[in-house]
Amino acid sequence: MAKILIVEDNALNIKLFCDLLAAHGHQPEAVTDSRVALEKAKSFGPDLVITDIQLPHVSGLDLIRMIRSDEQLAQVPIMAVTAYSARGDEERIRAAGAQAYVSKPISVMKFAQTVDDLLNDERERAREGGTAEGEIDNPYTQANRTDDGPGPGETGGDEP
Ligand code: MN
Repeated sequence: MAKILIVEDNALNIKLFCDLLAAHGHQPEAVTDSRVALEKAKSFGPDLVITDIQLPHVSGLDLIRMIRSDEQLAQVPIMAVTAYSARGDEERIRAAGAQAYVSKPISVMKFAQTVDDLLNDERERAREGGTAEGEIDNPYTQANRTDDGPGPGETGGDEP
């Protein structure tokens, strides 16, 4: 389970993203006003931030830059979601500091897969960077850590 902050001004998209993430066992939290997104991120401590690019007030690109230059949040993976994918958009989004980019209308498969990839990369990075001595070489520890439970498309086995 991962804590995922969603910054999105469209209520239907918020519902869609939250439902999708919850169905994958994550803990989503949504912010509609990008002006409070940075503060919310600091208090929530997300494992991943998903942000819309077309936002009133603070744009998604500016928010990505703010997160990247914040000491506490600099390492948090960011996935951008955007409705208008003009030429050069992806480069601008990645240059601002997002690791991934999904265009709207989103493909549910692509959305879920991108979230999984980013969280796996982040776990990998955390494991390499900040684990206690001795843990890295223990194959049992590593095996346990890669066991994330049911994958996409699996129910978890609690259906009647
Ligand atoms: Mn928007």
